[in-house]
Amino acid sequence: MLVRGDGCRVVDLDGNRLLDFTGNHSILVHGYGSPPVMEAIRRQIELGTCFPGPTEAQLRFARHLVERIGSLERVRFTNSGTEAVMMAVRAARRFTGRRRIAKLEGGYHGTSEDVVGSEHPDLVILPADDAAAAVALLGRHARELAAVLVEPVQGSAGMLALDLAYLRTLREATRRLGILLVFDEVVSVRVSYGGAEEHFGVKPDMCCLGKLIGGGLPLGAFGGREEIMELFDPSRGPPVIPHPGSYNANPVSLAAGLATMELLTREAVERLNAAGERLRTALDQVFAEAGVPASVTGLGSLFGIHLTEGPVRTIRDAVRADTPLRHRIFLGLYVEGILIDPRGVGTLSTAIGDAEIEEFLAALRSVLSRLRQPALS
Ligand code: PMP
Repeated sequence: MLVRGDGCRVVDLDGNRLLDFTGNHSILVHGYGSPPVMEAIRRQIELGTCFPGPTEAQLRFARHLVERIGSLERVRFTNSGTEAVMMAVRAARRFTGRRRIAKLEGGYHGTSEDVVGSEHPDLVILPADDAAAAVALLGRHARELAAVLVEPVQGSAGMLALDLAYLRTLREATRRLGILLVFDEVVSVRVSYGGAEEHFGVKPDMCCLGKLIGGGLPLGAFGGREEIMELFDPSRGPPVIPHPGSYNANPVSLAAGLATMELLTREAVERLNAAGERLRTALDQVFAEAGVPASVTGLGSLFGIHLTEGPVRTIRDAVRADTPLRHRIFLGLYVEGILIDPRGVGTLSTAIGDAEIEEFLAALRSVLSRLRQPALS
């Protein structure tokens, strides 16, 4: 159980102080209790925690996102990434008049039934590394398909960045077939100032956001082309798709989110990405020196450790990794005072510096050297 966080450290119930490389599932891009974010929260709480109408916080954050993320001509706020994806799916269905949704194998888009797992009858699953096969499936189901949901970096699959050529092919095929391309950037938005769509130079029709955009408070957002988002427009009578929600566009979350995004300048993103690059290279070296087969994935300030020879490009490669060993490394690191996600993924925050990265690497070296000793029974 975790009880307190400060910068890049968290404290558990037993008083262990841990250096945090999870950023709470990639949310806390500036670490715990970032002073400007806390100050923005305090200021908004004094003004009011929620209102029965639009707020200045909403307007300011919407403007920020629309200026920052190329595909967002219009944006709406939800309480989570799950809801953002749900609403994008509703929009795509209504806009295209089609029902089914395609997603990539290994893709995670929250917990709404429409997009969970691979067994839902309305889902078409595309291979994440074979553009020709993906396009063939899109062609076969084109008349039923409303949208293709894509995580430009597959987070839950283990921080696997998609290929640029693959993304370009999907963009071209969806445009040709009248299917909406929806980027789920809940995790990947941090890889470039304007999100992964800017990094790859591929513009989707719609984009979903969540996690870090709430600055540690519940928030999601979805948006895209104006003609699609018009479906939600209440300014000329009842909208085609109503989008009520008691806590939608909660101003405290929005204030925290805006402060977070304003701190995440182009320069901050570049520094984070450079640190991510250094960390991934160093992790590769540490595993190689220890003789432990591993493949380190990721992009920008996102990283994934897969205990397999690699290369790890898809979830099929990722599931071949040694899970018991991963768990032993997770526990070993915990004992050394380093917290990563038990699934072997992690993220950097602006609160983490070179010294902390060195601390992580030293801890990993020591854990890997202990692994060579026989386990205590
Ligand atoms: N999409 C992606 C890519 C995610 O990683 C997540 C959360 N892990 C979601 C959607 C759902 O977001 P939330 O947990 O806020 O509902």
